[in-house]
Formats: sequence, C-alpha cells, structure tokens
Amino acid sequence: MIDIAVPGFGLLELTAVVCDFNGTLARDGQLVDGVPELLARVSRLLTVHVVTADTFGTVRSALASTGCDVAVIDGPDQALAKAAFVERIGASGVVAIGNGRNDRLMLASAALGIGVIGDEGIAGEALSACDIVARNIGDALGLLLEPRRVIASLRD
Ligand SMILES: [Mg+2]
Repeated sequence: MIDIAVPGFGLLELTAVVCDFNGTLARDGQLVDGVPELLARVSRLLTVHVVTADTFGTVRSALASTGCDVAVIDGPDQALAKAAFVERIGASGVVAIGNGRNDRLMLASAALGIGVIGDEGIAGEALSACDIVARNIGDALGLLLEPRRVIASLRD
C-alpha cells in the first residue's frame, strides 16, 4: 500500500500497479536494464500486474523471476481490455503505467496514470490521458518509491 495525499488532487490509496510491457518495461521484447530490481522494490509495496498483447512472445520468460502477475490480452481492442483489467481489480487503488495508444483508457481510469516516453516514445493520446509523464521506466517506478515526487508534480 502506498498512500499519497496530494493537495488539490486528492488522496491516493494505491494497492496495485498495472504496467504495459513493450515500450514501458521492455524494449523489443527484452526488459530494460534495472527493471527487475525496481520491480522487486515496488512489489514490497504494491501488487504488480503486467498487461500486454505480448507482441514479441517474451513476457512470461522475461518476468519469470520477478513474481509479477502477467496477463496476456488477446483480441482486437487492447485499450478496452486493459482498462477493463484495471476496473476489475479496482481502479481507485491502481497506478497504471504505459506508453502506447492502447494504454490510454487504463491511464485515464486508474487513480494515477503515469506515461513513459522510453525508447519507443509515447502515443499522443496516452500522453493526454496520463497524470504524469516520466522519461523512462526507472523514473516512473521511482515516483512510487519516492512519493514526494508525485506530490511535487501534482499538487496545486
Ligand atoms: Mg507499449
């Protein structure tokens, strides 16, 4: 659990993080350097879910040693499916992290949406749906480990 009281924005009572894989945690199907260590730290505070179309077919092996919950989403409407996942586990307790256009709905529905630019860039519609934009996944997960950064970015 991470509680963050942000003046003017509200009280965040986060219990889970829902994270996109490619472009967010991974580049070309492989985890970005440092991600396993950061996920291990975050997972002491929040349940970590990874939701992905798994374009490269690598997500389960890449995350096998991390203990993350992995949900591979099939079907044509990834954006709706990802948002439905967030709603199912309780959007009011979720921080969503993603970079793609199909992350836009989960970024909007989560209590806190963090967009990641990374090496793929961020889709314009994802950018406008999130609360905070981070340069990379390290900075994004760092916001959760140092919540005063969230307050600094979102407060009135
Ligand atoms: Mg992505």
